[in-house]
Amino acid sequence: PMTTSTHLLDRINHWTLACPERIAVWSASRKLTWGELGAHSDALALWLDASLDGVPGPVAVHGHKEPEMLIAFLAAVKAGRAYVPMDSSIPEARIARIVEGSGAALVLTPERVASVLADFEQPSPERPPLRRVDGEDPFYMLFTSGSTGEPKGVVITLQNLTAFTDWLLAEHGFEAQGETFLNQAPFSFDLSVMDVFGSLLTGGTLVCITKEELSNLKLLFQRLAESGVTTWVSTPSFAQMCMIEKGFRTTMLPAMRRFLFCGETLAPETASQLLERFESAQVWNTYGPTEATVATTSVRVDKALLEKFSPLPVGYEMPGTRVAVVDEAGAPVGEGERGEIIIAGRNVSPGYLNRPELTSKVFTQFDGLPAYRTGDWGRRREGLVFFEGRMDGQIKLNGYRIELGDMEANLRALPEVADAVVLPVEKLGKVDSLAAFVVLAVAIPGSEFEVAARVKARLGERVPAYMIPRKFHFLDAFPMTANGKADRRALAARLA
Ligand code: AMP
Repeated sequence: PMTTSTHLLDRINHWTLACPERIAVWSASRKLTWGELGAHSDALALWLDASLDGVPGPVAVHGHKEPEMLIAFLAAVKAGRAYVPMDSSIPEARIARIVEGSGAALVLTPERVASVLADFEQPSPERPPLRRVDGEDPFYMLFTSGSTGEPKGVVITLQNLTAFTDWLLAEHGFEAQGETFLNQAPFSFDLSVMDVFGSLLTGGTLVCITKEELSNLKLLFQRLAESGVTTWVSTPSFAQMCMIEKGFRTTMLPAMRRFLFCGETLAPETASQLLERFESAQVWNTYGPTEATVATTSVRVDKALLEKFSPLPVGYEMPGTRVAVVDEAGAPVGEGERGEIIIAGRNVSPGYLNRPELTSKVFTQFDGLPAYRTGDWGRRREGLVFFEGRMDGQIKLNGYRIELGDMEANLRALPEVADAVVLPVEKLGKVDSLAAFVVLAVAIPGSEFEVAARVKARLGERVPAYMIPRKFHFLDAFPMTANGKADRRALAARLA
């Protein structure tokens, strides 16, 4: 029998035998069955092992929502290597830094996977069986925005992932072979781990929303209407956007059982509108950073909770994990007091890949457990955790995690730019876009609009489109604070 102590890969393999005809992945017009997912990932794992022949390093996987992405992820771990998902929205220059920073042994693309599988010949039977990822081996590595402009790789072990998925499955009681999961987030964003492994561990179907569908509302709603989704996983921003379509309700998605949100603040208004439109579905708020494997707290948002709390809590911590609110010295503060949220437990990553100084700044111990200091302000009340914003320059824009310092460093790296400050522009208490203040290094001919367009184009070669500031302000010099720093507050006042 499959118990939670069974190796994660055995639990996934179980479905390849139990329901080989069932659709495992449905992306754009392509469908991959469980039987195919199992056979192809086994074959690719053998090929990886033979062709890498002991060369160390993870397997970087570069693509979008193609079914081959899932084949490649599973193949990597079946061959004992972590995978590094890289979405095609990430520009070449950043991809190159991630590949180098991760020490990847090879980069797979969907085309490469398809051609390997087409030519695949079973290796000789004498080959020893593969040594798959086990115990505290890295399972995946996700690169997130780093404040210096250099993406940092969060290492997640098999044990970390198992701690998270055990809880996810126990909390929601997904129906075996009975769930269809919505995958909205790119695979390079850890929110996707919730739907990918929710689906893989329950014999589910993963319905991937592609960027073409995301950018064409007619296509998107057609897709949703035919999807049969039962478990919705997305950022609140995405669900909020869907709400502009009046038909986005039970009639469009009659099988909907639950909405699982993570990654940014869930507004009470979003939750209550969803409860009205999908009378029989549940709405959940979950919270956590990539460094503590997707999510660490959760709470079901029902009418009673909505009546009691505004803003909403982010939830109760998963069993076996501690979430504490601490002061500057790292000592827990009292009930209801504000401090930094710290997460301790089996779901906490061992740290950033090859970045010991960065790791030691935020990864520590708490109560004898591995712990991560989130940099999030929060407080606890009635057993619940409340999130109250960031302590630093990290923001969320449409669910994407962005370090303002990352944008600033990338702007300053342009030869045209002498100095840059990037600030969030808020609307209704939420980050709506970014604004850049730039001191140019050279005079660029043209109107402010034309100059901004040129800087944006140059920036687009370095960072993903979602990170690029919408509005540019060009100054001769920044206003200064008393200690000679760019006066961010004075600049922010110009945005008001
Ligand atoms: P990421 O690593 O991209 O998941 O970003 C983690 C950060 O997103 C957290 O440290 C929080 O600042 C924010 N975050 C995650 N979940 C929530 C939530 N439910 N409500 C508010 N903020 C959240």
